[in-house]
Amino acid sequence: MDRVMADCRRFESDSNCQLTIIGPEDDVVAAAAQHAAASHGHEDTRELREQLRAMLEPESAYAPGERTPVPFPG
Ligand SMILES: [Zn+2]
Repeated sequence: MDRVMADCRRFESDSNCQLTIIGPEDDVVAAAAQHAAASHGHEDTRELREQLRAMLEPESAYAPGERTPVPFPG
């Protein structure tokens, strides 16, 4: 199974969050949903998980260091 990335550096956040989660897709979606709820005030809902799943990038897109954030969609 391909590994994928959910990268908080990609989006603007109040906390300027620098967390990057990489792993199998289902694990990344679950961890990202829990993180979004715990740290970003989102509700861990099926809709959130679907939104997160749509934002995943391939593991190969990972680059260390800073990333210029864009507004969180929706
Ligand atoms: Zn975050």
